[in-house]
Amino acid sequence: MRDTENPQARTIIALNAVTKSFGAVQALKGITANIREGEFFSLLGPSGCGKTTLLRMIAGFDEPTTGTIAIDGKPMAGIAANHRPTNMVFQSYAIFPHLSVADNVGYGLKKRRLPKAEYRREVEQALEMVDLGGYGPRAAHTLSGGQRQRVALARALIMKPKVVLLDEPLSALDKKLRDQMQLELRQLQRSVGITFILVTHDQEEALIMSDRIAVMFDGQIEQLATPEDLYRRPVNQRVASFIGVMNFLGAQVSGSDENQVSLDVQALGRIDIPRAGLPEGMKPEDIHRVGVRPEMMTILIDSATTAERIIEGEVVETSYYGDMTYYAVRLIGLEEPVTISMRNTAGRAVLRPGEIARVGFATDSIILFR
Ligand code: ATP
Repeated sequence: MRDTENPQARTIIALNAVTKSFGAVQALKGITANIREGEFFSLLGPSGCGKTTLLRMIAGFDEPTTGTIAIDGKPMAGIAANHRPTNMVFQSYAIFPHLSVADNVGYGLKKRRLPKAEYRREVEQALEMVDLGGYGPRAAHTLSGGQRQRVALARALIMKPKVVLLDEPLSALDKKLRDQMQLELRQLQRSVGITFILVTHDQEEALIMSDRIAVMFDGQIEQLATPEDLYRRPVNQRVASFIGVMNFLGAQVSGSDENQVSLDVQALGRIDIPRAGLPEGMKPEDIHRVGVRPEMMTILIDSATTAERIIEGEVVETSYYGDMTYYAVRLIGLEEPVTISMRNTAGRAVLRPGEIARVGFATDSIILFR
């Protein structure tokens, strides 16, 4: 099946109006999406939005209440998990510590009763894929957290699935290891070329790893897009504040003609935007708020610096992150402070609470909301 949005891409999983109810709880309210062959796809959303339920139905651990799931063009209704071309990677602690690395990896193959030499070759190949060649005889409990995670992955890859399913596989790891594993998993997915579907509630993880992300709230996909599109063109305020930080300011249309729309924006003043810059389906009268990302505002240091628009505000709080400082600044005319992020370059002083900041921003960096 071809993808209508990207005709080059082949659809590996087609979800069509999938719903799932558990008694009175409607966990999924109609999910329609095509997942492309070879992509790293994430299901992202807050706790309880239905991501695990959806992943489990793709895996075949559960059936939809209504709607259909097709994998590689075949309808999956009534097909058991072990007969689907999918394989689930569980968190690293799901490996058997008392078994050797090789026995852990070959676990799923045992039932196939392959000749010994072939079995060994398959295991070694899977280990090499995850960069653990030669680790077969080691006891699994002697491995580090990151190595265990790779064993869990090799155990899935050895079954030669068309789709690898990952349910928060990195959540048990500490931050440093998690950051490293995110990159490793991404590289590994690229090198094996198999479709990966990741469930995560961590927006940063989804942005780093994915080709495309489905942002879910309350059993529905609110936006399905590339990380960059989600960040730059969120469809609504809920998506915008879930993906990164967004400052929202009230806005009113003060005039419009065929070329441009004039907005009167809280604290920022008048902003003219070209009509062509309006998101699809949005009319000028729909605009009630604008969004500005923290990095789209700048704290100007010397009085000679110019910006397209300069506003004054008082620094309320600073959070220092080494390479970056986040400022909470109360702009004139606003009650709630806005968040501004600044890169800490050499010689740049960090402002203290109570100091007056001159804030510059480019008017074309605003995002329009209903
Ligand atoms: P989390 O990140 O916390 O795992 P999630 O987005 O994966 O959340 P799901 O686990 O899919 O969310 O749950 C979606 C909704 O369905 C929740 O309200 C949950 O309580 C409910 N739910 C899930 N499984 C069952 C079940 N077996 N029986 C009853 N309700 C369920």
